[in-house]
Amino acid sequence: MSYKEALANFKKKLHGPTVKFLVLPHKNPDGDAMGSCLGLALYLRKFGHEVNIIAPTDFPYFLRWLPNVDQVLVFSEKQNSRVKKKIHEANVLFFVDFNTLSRVEPLDVFLKSSPAFKILIDHHLAPETFDLMFCDPLAPATAVLVFRLIEQMGHLDCIDRDLAMCLYTALVSDTGSFRFSSVTSETHIIAAHLMDKGINAGEVQDRLYAIYTQGRMRLLTKTLQGMKILAEYRTAYMYVTSQDMEDCHYQKGDTEGFVNYGLSLKNVLLAALFIEDCTKGIIKISFRSKTNFDVNTFAREHFQGGGHKNAAGGVSREDLKATLEHFLGFLPLYKDQLS
Ligand code: 5GP
Ligand code: MN
Repeated sequence: MSYKEALANFKKKLHGPTVKFLVLPHKNPDGDAMGSCLGLALYLRKFGHEVNIIAPTDFPYFLRWLPNVDQVLVFSEKQNSRVKKKIHEANVLFFVDFNTLSRVEPLDVFLKSSPAFKILIDHHLAPETFDLMFCDPLAPATAVLVFRLIEQMGHLDCIDRDLAMCLYTALVSDTGSFRFSSVTSETHIIAAHLMDKGINAGEVQDRLYAIYTQGRMRLLTKTLQGMKILAEYRTAYMYVTSQDMEDCHYQKGDTEGFVNYGLSLKNVLLAALFIEDCTKGIIKISFRSKTNFDVNTFAREHFQGGGHKNAAGGVSREDLKATLEHFLGFLPLYKDQLS
């Protein structure tokens, strides 16, 4: 289905009889996932639809101030029956900022078997197929696609300050405050439109980034002290152990952005961060790269993950030591690209 056809189809849904929308970000939702979901929900509600948002896992504390964030239902065993009921009742499922249903575990099984109409809005590479797709892997954030959708529907006047705040936060989050190479003139034009709705850009930055607890700062310090630089492979990597997290009173979101410090080193093309999660028995990995080194492929091939060319993630079910050994073992395979 072409983008134009998808738009026409969506228009029918939006202007048709009242629908129960269920909007879902990926697990461990970030600023783009949360901001895009909340912005989209505000937009859909303007047409009288019932809109619920369910997050598969909790979100970081530095997003707790977003407009209407209290309305987000976070899945947990305690909320199991409530969440299943919402999924069961929904007529339309809106998947936001992820390309495969495995990214919404443990809800993926219920969502897969739901007969509801499924719409995807996302900027990751190689998305799975759904009933309607608003996808562009070149977009620097899913919020750009939400904005484009609203614009192409002819509804820019629906964007009020709250909606603008949600999308602006999403933009800032996924572009490294407009620093990444994915940023285009369109990104800035959208940011300008959103700012004109009365947003204080500095305030958003402060709410997102000037909120370190002492524990988080100590965790960052410890992580940076342990950074290893492999000049031969233009690679820097760091790890955070469960013990470090406990010692520094870890809260969800505390390691967000740590991986970027590796990439801020001159000459480094690949940065990796390994986070030990003893409760789940996994190591969660973040990869970032500069230029043409494709961490999406690297994460897919070696760590059951994916993402974007310059920002991806993955997972390992081995312990930290074995995971690091494997990672180091893969680097020689990429010597040509990392020199
Ligand atoms: P982060 O490193 O910030 O967790 O994620 C960077 C990017 O990679 C995000 O776009 C995120 O959606 C994607 N990503 C992170 N972890 C995974 C994963 O385990 N699987 C896949 N497919 N994508 C991931
Ligand atoms: Mn995103």
